Amino acid sequence: MPEDKCGIDGCSAPAVRSYSKKACEGAGLKPADENAKRVHVCKEHNKAFKKATKVDRKLESLGR
Ligand SMILES: [Zn+2]
Repeated sequence: MPEDKCGIDGCSAPAVRSYSKKACEGAGLKPADENAKRVHVCKEHNKAFKKATKVDRKLESLGR
């Protein structure tokens, strides 16, 4: 089944990529499945992921 959905908590958009769970958490995204090793992310969360990993200074000021 090639049908992948976004694995971020509260999101069920179609996935475009997958990252390791650790990477997602590092980017401030919360995987819905705690036991997953890889987490699929939708277009929007992929964007958020990239933003978070590129500009983590900004994330800190926004997230705290
Ligand atoms: Zn998503």
